[in-house]
Amino acid sequence: MLKFGIIRSPQGYSLSTVMQTAALQQLNINGEYKSYETNPEDLEKLFKKLKALGINGVNVTIPHKISIIPLLDELTKRAKLIGAVNTIIFKEDGKTIGDNTDSSGFWEGIPENIKGNILEKEVAMLGCGGAACAVAIAFLSNKIKILKIFARDKNKLNDFKNSLEQKKEKLKSNTVIETDLLSNLDLLNISILVNTTPVGMYPDINSSPVSIDHLKQLPSNAVVYDIIYKPQETKLLKDARALNKKTINGVEMLVRQGAESLNIWLNQNIAPLDVMRNAILEALVS
Ligand code: NAP
Repeated sequence: MLKFGIIRSPQGYSLSTVMQTAALQQLNINGEYKSYETNPEDLEKLFKKLKALGINGVNVTIPHKISIIPLLDELTKRAKLIGAVNTIIFKEDGKTIGDNTDSSGFWEGIPENIKGNILEKEVAMLGCGGAACAVAIAFLSNKIKILKIFARDKNKLNDFKNSLEQKKEKLKSNTVIETDLLSNLDLLNISILVNTTPVGMYPDINSSPVSIDHLKQLPSNAVVYDIIYKPQETKLLKDARALNKKTINGVEMLVRQGAESLNIWLNQNIAPLDVMRNAILEALVS
């Protein structure tokens, strides 16, 4: 039997278990996908236990995406670049490899016709935390003219910019990176606005990181992408829709990053996207 799972915090929650279990069933794979919860201080103990169990692959989520790195034998190029791991491959020879599918999941969550409208244009993102790094790497890897990052903490924003400038060199990217405080938000000329802050996430569903007046600055064909998936339509997306903007929620990013993890573990491109998406949507309404 193939053994997969997710390493997460006992306090958090994850939809990966329902999504990956549905995928394994659909593919008729004799396998399981279990949730393994641990506090940071017991991460190493859990990791050793999973190795002894003969596990084939795990996802890793908050708060362990960075602290897991020293326990791994190797990192893929993109995991090194993002500086965090969300997928681990356990090789037959005992080696463990850390990968990251968040950045590609974010980018694949954007419909193709919208991608065409943002290439060579200006984009903006809110927040400079963990998910923001995966989002920024996607933009730096995909011919964006200007990447504007807005966040509330000046020092964190400066550190984030400095680290992105180094990654930009490695990616040979020509994207110009600009940063400013959220209080100076300016959305004129922005083709896509991405929220990577948790503002608006359940249960705080009546909050938005952006005022309606700021949203009105967006060009008429701009897109608003909130990587939050619970609720599916955050206040930010509701406000954007009321202004006739196209919107994208975080469900597809979640599905795509999970599908890519499964494909990596199975070494085949067979993850059933529709089944995985439906499992998430069902879990979100129940
Ligand atoms: P994180 O590492 O804690 O980063 C959160 C960022 O948001 C930080 O820059 C933080 O700023 C900022 N922030 C928090 N509260 C804020 C507020 N009230 N006003 C302004 N900025 C605020 O969290 P994360 O792991 O990046 O996750 C962020 C969100 O993305 C969560 O809602 C998560 O569910 C979602 N996510 C979705 C997917 C998906 O697959 N769809 C994947 C990953 C994450 P400070 O540092 O100043 O606190």
